[in-house]
Amino acid sequence: MFEKVLLKNAEKPDAHGIEAYEAAGGYQALAKVLREFSPDGLIQLVKDSNLKGRGGAGFPTGLKWGFVPKDSDKPKYLCCNADESEPGTFKDRVIMEGDPHMMLEGMALASYAIGAEVAYLYIRGEFVLCIERLETALDEAYRKGYLGRDILGSGFNLDIHMHLGAGAYICGEETAMLESIEGRRGEPKLKPPFPAVAGLYECPTVINNVETLACLPHIVNRGVEWFRGIGPEQSPGPKLYCLSGHVQKPGVYELPMGISLRELVDDHAGGARPGRKIKAVIPGGVSAPMIPESGLDVTMDFESLTAIDTMLGSAGVIVLDDGDCIVRAAKNINEFFHEESCGKCTPCREGLDWTGKILHRMEAGEGRQGDLEQLDFLCGSIFGNSFCALGDGAAWALKAAITQFRDEFVQHVEEGRCPFH
Ligand code: SF4
Repeated sequence: MFEKVLLKNAEKPDAHGIEAYEAAGGYQALAKVLREFSPDGLIQLVKDSNLKGRGGAGFPTGLKWGFVPKDSDKPKYLCCNADESEPGTFKDRVIMEGDPHMMLEGMALASYAIGAEVAYLYIRGEFVLCIERLETALDEAYRKGYLGRDILGSGFNLDIHMHLGAGAYICGEETAMLESIEGRRGEPKLKPPFPAVAGLYECPTVINNVETLACLPHIVNRGVEWFRGIGPEQSPGPKLYCLSGHVQKPGVYELPMGISLRELVDDHAGGARPGRKIKAVIPGGVSAPMIPESGLDVTMDFESLTAIDTMLGSAGVIVLDDGDCIVRAAKNINEFFHEESCGKCTPCREGLDWTGKILHRMEAGEGRQGDLEQLDFLCGSIFGNSFCALGDGAAWALKAAITQFRDEFVQHVEEGRCPFH
């Protein structure tokens, strides 16, 4: 029987205060680490746990921490990426609203591991309730001595600053986020150098996602064996899945990594609406290529989804049923990426404008012969030639929709109408 840890507190009413968190064992992991672990020891523990980043890329967290140069005399920074902007993704918000101290404790642990005395919490400005709860939680943590100078008498210092984003999707990209914190326009920067070497203010910086940080206190408290005992060996641990679209019970579900997509959709989210059949599922936010219904037996972990040319991404699972038009879905997704393109590089800026015009025409019943081939060409031109993952993700997702449901695109053009509306 799987026992929830990430949502255990968050699902209780009024459990976001520090007393409730402490009563549930909160901040004991921080006390234990400051008492018993060196920074290198904590990095090794997290490496041994095989925790992979929950923000989308799935990069091993301990390995990322290990890239921070120990011999650098520059300040080190931790940045918590709380900009959660991927459509269909709303899991980090649940942690920040319901159990903000769990994430703050994770930030303190990560900061200790990499030698940071200053951490930034980059949060999207629309998350009003999260911001209120986190402001209160920060005050409480300082008052109780879990943040600030000489934390719990250990000599470790940490200040956390909250930075409100203005709602630009691209600021979820780590280098664009750092630009934004520094007060510049949020645009991706060329890598290398990677942030672990030259990040915020050109200093070594680690960027971790909210859910990743929230896993840390549990790994310290319960141990590596417990964590590795949940889910597949290569991608272990508890996982938050966001279910939205045409399912009967949308919401955030905490389940083991590696659960089958079919079980997630049918057994936990209640399956399709009455009288409807599932047509396709987007498994990891709209950057992730959609999977037709026949592929739902895939397991939800980084490796299994990559093997079928999609990705776990943010685990934002969006369900489309047989009443949904794939061309319309593809048009809406393309519009989002076009709107959020920062405009820095030509393939993404111009390419997504062009694909958008074609998709709009098709959906309006004005598709032309050759449009589909033009879309194929444009996807191929954008993918692999964009400066950052936004352009690549947009083209990858569109190409998958065309490949999986080519007949629907052809039907739109040949019949000169959308067959679903
Ligand atoms: Fe900007 Fe798009 Fe280029 Fe990324 S791919 S740098 S979002 S224009």
